[in-house]
Amino acid sequence: MNIYEGKSVFHGIAIGRISVYKKGEQQVKRVKIKDAEAEIARFEESKAQAVKQLQGLYDKALCEVGEANAAIFEVHQMMMEDDGYNDSIKNMIRTQEINAEYAVASTGDNFAQIFASMDDDYMKERAADVRDISERIITVLSGTDSAMAAAKEPSIIVAEDLAPSETVQLDKDMVLSFVTVHGSLNSHTAILARTMAIPALVGTPLPLDETTDGKLGIVDGTSGKIYVDPDEQTLTEMKIKQQKELERKELLQTLKGRENVTLDGKKVMLYANIGNIKDLATVLQNDAGGIGLFRSEFIYLEKDSYPTEEEQFQIYKQAAETMAGKRVIIRTLDIGADKQCSYFEMEQEENPALGCRAIRICLTRPEIFKTQLRALFRASAYGKIAIMYPMITSVKEVKRIQEIVALVKEELTEQGIDFGEPEQGIMIETPAAVMVSDELAKEVDFFSIGTNDLTQYTLAIDRQNTKLDEFYDAHHPAILRMISMVVEHAHRAGIWAGICGELGADQTLTQEFLAMGVDELSVSPGSILPLRKIVLETNVEEYKAGKENVNRTET
Ligand code: PEP
Ligand code: MG
Repeated sequence: MNIYEGKSVFHGIAIGRISVYKKGEQQVKRVKIKDAEAEIARFEESKAQAVKQLQGLYDKALCEVGEANAAIFEVHQMMMEDDGYNDSIKNMIRTQEINAEYAVASTGDNFAQIFASMDDDYMKERAADVRDISERIITVLSGTDSAMAAAKEPSIIVAEDLAPSETVQLDKDMVLSFVTVHGSLNSHTAILARTMAIPALVGTPLPLDETTDGKLGIVDGTSGKIYVDPDEQTLTEMKIKQQKELERKELLQTLKGRENVTLDGKKVMLYANIGNIKDLATVLQNDAGGIGLFRSEFIYLEKDSYPTEEEQFQIYKQAAETMAGKRVIIRTLDIGADKQCSYFEMEQEENPALGCRAIRICLTRPEIFKTQLRALFRASAYGKIAIMYPMITSVKEVKRIQEIVALVKEELTEQGIDFGEPEQGIMIETPAAVMVSDELAKEVDFFSIGTNDLTQYTLAIDRQNTKLDEFYDAHHPAILRMISMVVEHAHRAGIWAGICGELGADQTLTQEFLAMGVDELSVSPGSILPLRKIVLETNVEEYKAGKENVNRTET
């Protein structure tokens, strides 16, 4: 047995034969031609056919993985029509009197090199796209078939790398998993794999020869490992793990696509909490209605220096595009307390949880805040982004935020940079914010209750101190009354209120939250479907009546 470790794109267990995928090698020869105009016409015809193929791939991806993820094939069509790309090919055919295949291959290489040498990571990844479109045109020109050879049995596809077009062409019924030697986690291919929910690994250093091809393999997407020729014990263990996964999936399947509506017609939004765009796959897999809390500080925590506006923009844009029109609530950085970032060079504090954290850093160091806001406003032109501000205690703070936001928008306008109009809401996670939530509600678009901190600050219990666990009572009536009060104030002002703290996933309280009129519960992706089940089985009015009866009997 050989074990190779890669980076996990999508979890799950796959067991089956390994099939090493080799691209249809394009042997492009340089051939002298006589009639340049006829060769250009041949190129134009092939290109038109390639564009048609891409339209077909777009339609297939649209059905299987949604609009945002299908968009790459639209981009490829546009790239094929790019004037610079086309002029270069035609120019080569005319001036060098060479065949179209060779002109396309050379132009593709040249453009790919230009993209690859750019500083911007996003542009770098376009090098693979330009190679992909060039190969497609060459395939049509030369009449060879580059489509992935149909597998005879469902297999684990192992490849050097896979282009987005190759990934979407995979016959899902025949592909158990794919594992690539190269490939980045943020490539479109990885995004597609996540959305297709295929266990997949990238960056896996395994040989693509007879030592793997045709052998039995196990891909464990959770640990990021592929076992080649596994021993009996590993096989048995993995089969048990796979069975558990299947049972879980079956439950998920039955609830997917259902609306979160109670028996008496009350609707609730079930959203997901994430800390990284890598989590988007599970968000989609669990059928979340949106993202209710993207803890953006993890972008800062993963780095040794401040993430740039561009870096942040790409991340937020990716989240917005992947969620394809569903709401993506991104919380501005909540550094401080337990989340320390050395390059912020914060002073040591006696009580960091009561110190300079979250919005307090943003308001005292507006340059950091403005960079993030610029990235968020720009990204909101690509989807339904909402911005959420943490640790608010007063209307004054919200007014100060509004001033900074106005400045950011003014600057973007002056610079002619595109931006959207995101909704803006706040976290209610301090007792002060609860008590003035009637005033705050007039200033913002929504509330999201952070029960983790709200419990810490209300009960005066450090949430990090495990010795105090027995006193940390998130069901304390003070907390429940606060939630009810916040919801009432929100509704009175015509805005919605949700819960994004851990309490939102507490299944013993779901009916209570529904009775309070909580509009949204944002929980870890794996909790969405279990909550949906409760919602579907609840009759809110009956639940309220039952509670009243109990209260009457008790008094
Ligand atoms: C909360 O406080 O409930 C919350 C959701 O924010 P965090 O856990 O990130 O502080
Ligand atoms: Mg909090």
